Amino acid sequence: EVINKAAPTKRDYETLVELDKKHFLHPTSPIKQQQEDGPAFIFTEGNGIYLKDIHGQELIDGLSSLWNVNIGHGRKELGQVAAEQMSKLAFSSTFATFSHEPAIELAAKIAEITPGDLNTVFFTSGGSESNDTAFKLVRHYWKLKGQPEKKKIVSRRKSYHGVAMGATSATGLQPFRDFTTSLAPDFYYVESTPESFRAFIEAEGAETIAAYISEPIQGTGGVIMPPKDYFKEIKSICEENNILFIADEVITGFGRTGTYFGVEQFGIVPDIMSVAKGITSGYAALGGVIISEKIHQDLIDLSDGLFMHGYTYSGHPTACAVALKNIEIIENEGLIDNSKAMGEKMLEGFKRIQDKHEIVGEVRGLGLMGAIEIVEDKETGERFAEPLAPSIVAESLKRGLIHRGVIYEGADTLIFAPPLNINEEEVEKMIQIIDEAITAAKSNVK
Ligand code: PMP
Repeated sequence: EVINKAAPTKRDYETLVELDKKHFLHPTSPIKQQQEDGPAFIFTEGNGIYLKDIHGQELIDGLSSLWNVNIGHGRKELGQVAAEQMSKLAFSSTFATFSHEPAIELAAKIAEITPGDLNTVFFTSGGSESNDTAFKLVRHYWKLKGQPEKKKIVSRRKSYHGVAMGATSATGLQPFRDFTTSLAPDFYYVESTPESFRAFIEAEGAETIAAYISEPIQGTGGVIMPPKDYFKEIKSICEENNILFIADEVITGFGRTGTYFGVEQFGIVPDIMSVAKGITSGYAALGGVIISEKIHQDLIDLSDGLFMHGYTYSGHPTACAVALKNIEIIENEGLIDNSKAMGEKMLEGFKRIQDKHEIVGEVRGLGLMGAIEIVEDKETGERFAEPLAPSIVAESLKRGLIHRGVIYEGADTLIFAPPLNINEEEVEKMIQIIDEAITAAKSNVK
């Protein structure tokens, strides 16, 4: 069969576009725009921090796709590990105490790298499943402890926890909840202050609250840092009130912030941790919920029968094998230290952009997670009536950089999270493109 060199797939580009429009309902996407313009890109290859599309155009993947491709694209070792595992044992169940080596090895490895006594893992296929598992688990836990009325889940405004029913219900960002009508009961939102959490406990009663959940740094909300000492205070409020603390490390886990896990930046150890994304760097679908030794022991001691929760793909052997190799690469190549060092370079670059541009307000970052605020007035921080982030993102794309603009809930923010193996030269290239894109977008306005 002859393969068209310009489009290294079996069908021509126009046909792919038509098939995409007709048959492919894209996740979290502008549905009308897809019908008008077709897919923005059809990617065919990835290498390091770069993605290549069907026309051969190379773009910097400035958000590591969905904050997940931590080790960068095109690592053949992961493909090899997956192929070997699939050829040997592609799948076997982990229900009913059946087990296999990749899941056992990965569980042990996770226990080794997570802080404190977070030593036991329940596997899922992604972040939403992890959070839904965590919500069911904490309620199950309190039920076993003789307190079934302890069932409310508290999350923060502007949080994102995924799109499964529980995860959507816990998500503080309103547009994700407004997508549908009925959501899960017993989910509540507080402002990001200890006072707001205290007031909530006061009003509702600690005996009705199962858990508090938070991202160490809010990602989808716009790379929002917690107030200073916020988590230490929240953790002690949780302890005082017998409320379990769930850290949603789906983005911040596996080196993103310059430490293995985001909570390490804030000096706390949660009771439960949700992970996904960076656990395989996106090379396979995997997530997990990691629980403390105390919770694990209580679950065993108080068990009233079967642990009635499990996904077909809990502990998928191929995904676990890929995760193990991915973690080995993160460690052997010093990618957590690189995240810290390159994160500092990225933030320095953001500061140069801030000095240069009238319309750049606050810039912030931790490890390779960063944000630039767009403002009309630098002094007051006032926003443009019409957010500028979408046109800056479009200008960046024209110049070969993919990143995201956040405009919900009054934001006008550019966010970035490149792969952890980015080098100094590549960071500088990103900064240069952002600088030019801001200039271009601004000149379009005036
Ligand atoms: N939690 C957080 C903090 C996330 O950022 C995400 C995904 N962006 C999720 C949960 C949901 O993960 P998934 O999309 O794998 O279900």
